[in-house]
Amino acid sequence: MLRRFFSIVPKTVQLWASVLVGCALLMGLVVGYKSADQGAVLPTVSAYGSAALLLGAVIAIWLLCLGFVFADARRRGMRPVPWVLVAGLFPHLLGFLLYFVLRQPIASTCTQCGKTVPLHQPFCSWCGASLAARNGPPTTDSLQQASQ
Ligand SMILES: [Zn+2]
Repeated sequence: MLRRFFSIVPKTVQLWASVLVGCALLMGLVVGYKSADQGAVLPTVSAYGSAALLLGAVIAIWLLCLGFVFADARRRGMRPVPWVLVAGLFPHLLGFLLYFVLRQPIASTCTQCGKTVPLHQPFCSWCGASLAARNGPPTTDSLQQASQ
């Protein structure tokens, strides 16, 4: 499940998420070190560091989820940008919930032009090629259509 999630999230988003966690941790350590009293450096630094790490991790997970919605929407032939906005802007993860309720089944690619076409659509909306043979078991009708 988690491996599938990470295989869908774009690599650049994963990179940015890990950079973000690293930066948050570093900032927490620096701020903790600067605000620490003499003698109590270690506890203060570790407290600030773990708080920053937690905050960074939460933001990074949110970023990864947005990246997932973007890639998953594109894979399903849905508009990725509005869905990322919906997922990111609705409070309390409502946008993510909405996305998973409303998302389309995984799109197929057109054999003629290679563009993504929603599943169960009989014709390619880009080049007009018949996709009937690709959806469900082939019938004699769709086979005749495909050979024409
Ligand atoms: Zn096509």
